Amino acid sequence: MPDTLPPRVSHADVLPDQAQGMQLVGQSGNGGIALGQGVLADQITALSAVPDRQITDIQAESDRLLQAVRQAVDVLRAQQAATDLSGIEQALSEAMVLMLEDDTLQAQILAGIRQGQWAPAALRDAIEAQAQAFSRMSDHYLRERATDVRELGQRILKYLQPDAIYPIIYPDQTILIGMDLSALQLAEVPRGQLAGIISASGTATSHVAILARALGVPAVMGVADITGLQGRTLILDGYQGLVCVEPTAAIRAEYQHAAAQAQVWHTTLETVRGQPAQTDDGVPVELHLNIDLDNAQYGAQHTEAMGVGLYRTEWPFMVRDSFPSEEEQLACYQQVLTTFAPRPVTMRTLDIGGDKPLPYFPLPAQNPFLGWRGVRILLQHPAIFRTQLRAMLRADIGQHNLRIMLPMVTQTSEVVELKQHLHRICAELCTEGYAVTCPPVGVMIEVPAAMYQIDHLAQQVDFFSIGTNDLAQYLLAVDRDNPQVAGLYDDLHPAVLQALQHIVIAVHSQGKPVSICGEIAGNLLAVPLLIGLGADSLSMSADSLLSVKYLLRHTRQTEAQDLLQQAMMQPDAAQVRCLMQQTLQSYGLGDRDWSQPQP
Ligand code: PEP
Ligand code: MG
Repeated sequence: MPDTLPPRVSHADVLPDQAQGMQLVGQSGNGGIALGQGVLADQITALSAVPDRQITDIQAESDRLLQAVRQAVDVLRAQQAATDLSGIEQALSEAMVLMLEDDTLQAQILAGIRQGQWAPAALRDAIEAQAQAFSRMSDHYLRERATDVRELGQRILKYLQPDAIYPIIYPDQTILIGMDLSALQLAEVPRGQLAGIISASGTATSHVAILARALGVPAVMGVADITGLQGRTLILDGYQGLVCVEPTAAIRAEYQHAAAQAQVWHTTLETVRGQPAQTDDGVPVELHLNIDLDNAQYGAQHTEAMGVGLYRTEWPFMVRDSFPSEEEQLACYQQVLTTFAPRPVTMRTLDIGGDKPLPYFPLPAQNPFLGWRGVRILLQHPAIFRTQLRAMLRADIGQHNLRIMLPMVTQTSEVVELKQHLHRICAELCTEGYAVTCPPVGVMIEVPAAMYQIDHLAQQVDFFSIGTNDLAQYLLAVDRDNPQVAGLYDDLHPAVLQALQHIVIAVHSQGKPVSICGEIAGNLLAVPLLIGLGADSLSMSADSLLSVKYLLRHTRQTEAQDLLQQAMMQPDAAQVRCLMQQTLQSYGLGDRDWSQPQP
């Protein structure tokens, strides 16, 4: 193995001193480092988003403010009287009332009004000044009060401006922040202005993190306290899952150093562009793209990929407020098929449910990942499936590079039924005069039961693809979206590797090809193992493609097979990571800490 791989960015030194800037800890959603300005996606009444406005009637504005404060106090008092609050809640509520009645705060707001500022902006400034004062305190408890002060300001604003909605202003380097960001909210950021993503919920395999990878921006997931990040300068360390608020000059300088190192790495990766995707000992492994977004997002990598291994068709459904029509879907699918022709494009039929809801398609309130999702919904709503298939088949006319893939399959009968629909729709389109052909059909292996049905499934389908994101969550019984148990979710768990080996052997024994399209395929720590498995293709986000190719070309398949055997014998995922960390270091991959789960 050559030692020519350059060191990647040493992330441990990016945010070295916790005292230098307030640091929030989450989990890595997508690697990378960004410097930008925080923008709350849900700014319905975000205090920090209140614009300046000059007033002339100072008395009326002051009265308005005092009335809003009184209302906020009355509501809190009523809640205290009516509810059976716990001791802590009572104390917090009382503290809130005391702060609301605090003369200093009121005087500060009124002073702003006297200077001609309208009440919401005077409130904004006074609250921010107080919150800043708290956050500078050395006592941890008092620092935490900054959050309470901001919440208080939010409460008063509610009574000042009950129906206010301010248009979101996106700065050039927007770091989008939300409780549970939707695809639509990401799409609303103007092209080129999204620098990073912070999500209060979710983990590295949540849909938001997958979209971050598709967009090539760093993401930090599971940041508990996002209040107060609006408008602040932030450094996002997507590798370590950290957010630094108002970084000092020293931290910024280190960030710039890290960014320069990353640039060196990217330049090195360019050397494999256009080279064959094969191991050092000449074994070809097809590298495909996962596409989650629209055409403009494929970037420069689309020429580098041998096709699309997974087109998550949810995107056109998620960015609308009703089901897209057949014609709308047709335009979308045509664009993808044409861009990649003659290379194959594997389109997955709509996989909603789980972490991919549609705003206009109500799912049961209690609908965990074991619930109603993927083909389970399509089988009960054949009209949705029908429209989508008609659009896909029509888009393929004249191209013939479409492949259709079914998600969340648990039993063969599901495939049989969906294929019957497909054949009926093909015939129907032919009678309507469309020269459609029936494309190859495949299934995703994402459910443990499907692993043991491969011989039956193989009778029905042309190819298989392993969705490791779901397969790992179902094998490990860990919700992939729940930050609480994120530490237990690890697709490098030896049991997951053994499952993958079982699947690859079983599929190959049926003479069918198998791809791996979960996030593991873009994880450098796992790539040598996947090469050792003998998967026919790996499908990943665009921003992983060149680094995976680089590693592929520096890996010998014979060595990768040995490595896989060693990895499968490890007692736990931590040991597998350790083994792979050492392996990558022996490949010359520098001082990056690969031991933590990372995309
Ligand atoms: C998977 O489960 O691995 C997969 C590729 O599908 P998704 O992440 O969209 O559920
Ligand atoms: Mg899946």
